[in-house]
Amino acid sequence: MSINRECYTGRFIGGNILLYCPCCDKGVLGIIEDTFIHKSTKKSADDMEITGDVSCLDIKFFTFLECSNNRCKEIVVMGGIGKVEEEYESSEEQYMGTSCISSYEIKYIDPPINIIKISDEVPSCITDTIKDSFSLFWGYPSLVGNRIRTALELILNEKNVKSTGVNKNGKEYRMSLHERIKEFGKIKNGEYKELQKMLLGIKWLGNVATHGEEMKKEDLLNAYEVLDCILDEIFVRDKKLLGVKEMSHDLEKSFKLER
Ligand SMILES: [Zn+2]
Repeated sequence: MSINRECYTGRFIGGNILLYCPCCDKGVLGIIEDTFIHKSTKKSADDMEITGDVSCLDIKFFTFLECSNNRCKEIVVMGGIGKVEEEYESSEEQYMGTSCISSYEIKYIDPPINIIKISDEVPSCITDTIKDSFSLFWGYPSLVGNRIRTALELILNEKNVKSTGVNKNGKEYRMSLHERIKEFGKIKNGEYKELQKMLLGIKWLGNVATHGEEMKKEDLLNAYEVLDCILDEIFVRDKKLLGVKEMSHDLEKSFKLER
């Protein structure tokens, strides 16, 4: 499932939210009439009184959303921040006045939106860790990388990639995520060599939170897309392949018996 990036990185104006329901993943979420509340902070409202500049307003909002799918109708709660911008209106180079446009940015949403759809074939410990990151995405994007790194460690555990090595002095040590990913490329006669490159590509994510840097949502969405592909290759494709191998084995058996 590819990500509709605008919904996740942009601000929304009016009721234009464009997010899929976290429960059924089919319906689209819409604001429930009369539940949208927004207020400016006291300080920013006082500043606006003095300067007359609406762009200094620091707005907080809160609303309930409902799924458009009649079979689901799940309720979601959402909150965040907003701002007002003045736009100049003109017609045939004639100044017509100004209008104010309010736009909003989501900081909190519960239940969290499934940024990527995780197959039931993926072990629950990995699914839970990634779903955890979906709740952090809106308000604390810098912490998402850390969860994605944990998910990578769990994927390697599932594939029985060793987590300890022996150093030059013969002492056992805990392998870094980087070393484990390298090891992953060697198992199954190098079958996961291509995936190993993808894993290395997103393992740096956790460092950002540790160094206190800002994490861009665009980068996180890239990481989620890569992760989506990795999970598919490791858990869904492998399972399909196993099923097909079994079927082929059964066919071979019955064919041989008939002969
Ligand atoms: Zn729904």
